[in-house]
Amino acid sequence: MGDRTETLSFFMSATGTEDEAVAFMLLEDCHWNLENAVNTFFLMNDSGGGDIGSGGGPQTGGAVPGPTHSEGVYTSEELIPKRVWKVVEADPYGQYPFLYIILGVDKCVVFDTGTGCGDFKGFVDKNINTASLPYLVVCSHVHFDHVGGNAAFQKDEKFLGIAMGNRDQKFTENVEINSLALAHQGCVIKPFMVTRWLSEGELIPLDDDDTSKENSLEVIHTPGHTPDSIALLDRKGGRI
Ligand SMILES: [Zn+2]
Repeated sequence: MGDRTETLSFFMSATGTEDEAVAFMLLEDCHWNLENAVNTFFLMNDSGGGDIGSGGGPQTGGAVPGPTHSEGVYTSEELIPKRVWKVVEADPYGQYPFLYIILGVDKCVVFDTGTGCGDFKGFVDKNINTASLPYLVVCSHVHFDHVGGNAAFQKDEKFLGIAMGNRDQKFTENVEINSLALAHQGCVIKPFMVTRWLSEGELIPLDDDDTSKENSLEVIHTPGHTPDSIALLDRKGGRI
């Protein structure tokens, strides 16, 4: 452990970060390779990502900022008018995950649900999914800052389910260990059940009457940050 303590303190002084938990997670992701971890840290800050590492989270570059809405720990931004929103969660663990909401014709797709520290579903109900479309939750990977709000959606009577990548199902199912919630004091992930396992290239139609690629979200496996990481390609919006 002595070596790791030293690596951790090198990492923190090289990057100027004061968040030991984030530093630990990033080093862990990079198998304690200091150089890789430092590079990843700066890359991640350049792209403005809210997650450590990358791979799972969509990027938002080039967007003309839409109106924002702030309530509790959540701030939303409309990326594509009446269709795609980004919500940032100001969580107590310092992750600030980016959560995406895509309004389809017959469903509302929620891509990641945050740490569960606030009422994310209530925020989306009130400010974004005002037509009360049924929810389909898709999670980019099993880390606690992406799946923590899942349980709240599951309770909804019109709920369509929770979908995650099928590349390493065992890894995903071991939420207790692989969510890393245990490394964050006070963080508890309420149980949730994955109801659909997504293959590479699988389509999630935004309208069940038009299941074309153009009108769907396409699943791309992006292992790296975690073995189960996925991204969603929105052809209509030209975004990942
Ligand atoms: Zn993560």
